[in-house]
Amino acid sequence: MGLVVRNGEIVTVGSRVKGDVYAENETVTRIGKNLEVPPGTEIIDASGKFVFPGFIDPHVHIYLPFMATFAKDTHETASIAALIGGTTTYIEMCCPNRTDDALAGYELWKSKANGKSACDYAFHMSVTKFGEETESQLREIVADGTSSFKIFLAYKNFFGVDDGEMYQTLTLAKKLGVIVTAHCENAELVARLQAQLIAEGKTGPEWHEPSRPESVEAEGTGRFATFLENTGATGYVVHLSCERALNAGVAAKERGVRLSVEAVLPHLLLDKSFAERPGVEGMKHVMSPPLRAKKNQDVLWNALSRGLVDTVGTDHCPFDVEQKLLGTDAFTNIPNGIPGIEDRVNLLYSFGVQKGRIDLDRFVDIASTRAAKLFGLYPRKGTIEVGSDADLVVFDTNYRGIVSAKTQHVNNDYNGFEGMAIEGRPSVVTVRGKVQARDGKFVGERGRGRLLKREPAYF
Ligand SMILES: [Zn+2]
Repeated sequence: MGLVVRNGEIVTVGSRVKGDVYAENETVTRIGKNLEVPPGTEIIDASGKFVFPGFIDPHVHIYLPFMATFAKDTHETASIAALIGGTTTYIEMCCPNRTDDALAGYELWKSKANGKSACDYAFHMSVTKFGEETESQLREIVADGTSSFKIFLAYKNFFGVDDGEMYQTLTLAKKLGVIVTAHCENAELVARLQAQLIAEGKTGPEWHEPSRPESVEAEGTGRFATFLENTGATGYVVHLSCERALNAGVAAKERGVRLSVEAVLPHLLLDKSFAERPGVEGMKHVMSPPLRAKKNQDVLWNALSRGLVDTVGTDHCPFDVEQKLLGTDAFTNIPNGIPGIEDRVNLLYSFGVQKGRIDLDRFVDIASTRAAKLFGLYPRKGTIEVGSDADLVVFDTNYRGIVSAKTQHVNNDYNGFEGMAIEGRPSVVTVRGKVQARDGKFVGERGRGRLLKREPAYF
């Protein structure tokens, strides 16, 4: 049975038109005014509302063994939360650590999501060491349709790679046509600064930011860019948090390095004073790179509006209060992460578009289209065209609400954005032509999501 979304304002990058979108067999097949549809077609009235392409979160953690514990979500809870918030595709970091076998890790992550995710998904494959088997294993993973890698310059001895391994990963990525995403902080400096602060008795969450200052991230960003420059690989800096790192990224872009930059929701809306709150309130706001001095927020918004930052993800990573308390004696033991998969689109719209920091065109690009293009999903995802998957978000700009852990669907007992005002939210969300969420509720089919196969694109 077909589905038609009637009389909405259809917004894609570079285009805003009033009309109808008709979908059948999971795909958009017609766009126009007053479309005639067969009897039995499901009709969604979008009068007075925007119709956006399904939003894409390019950076989430769902299954994650990390810092002696596991992130709280399952693919069921995270995907339902995503859909309620208008995200119809997420890309999860597949993160085996240095002592795990990469291929076994990849199979494990796939098995966790398979049949459980209610929306479509893909993986970035983390390369956390580069040994004898790595090249053949990565070739197999790319052939399976996972055509992006992730490296960590941070997290020494756990996820982190050294410069030699980074070089090998980028060289292989170039050969395979695969984009490499990178967490850019200098692992050695972080480890030394952490040890020094702890030795001085500076153990609270307020010392997390000083242990990984802006200079450490700027160094990592610059070094990653230099390695891209010298290998010819294509890269993507994840969760860039501050002006100094941005300057390193922009300088690289200006000299022709094939580099894109992601910001994440926490760095746009929260600042380091949140992590300086006493006790567990501070711990709830510990992530890496850390929340920064407030002045960086305007810098990031400005860079988003000018296209210097390409995408906005979340780095969704839920640890609950009990887990955060693992870091009571030392901030270095606080599990890193702030969840956001459910709130990204609404907060980005409310604090970006409604407050005049970004226009509607940029909003659609940074929250959907650009990620689809960078990660080999376009035009199947990230736009509304004949032939695209019918992932549609009918968006009600008149909705008013408040972000709260009490009403969230993410499996966690706090929300880092607690109390923030929402101006607009999805009223209908479809995945491949099927309504999966309505007005803040999941109404669809669990486990319907598919692993998206992606071709290498950067030869
Ligand atoms: Zn992450």
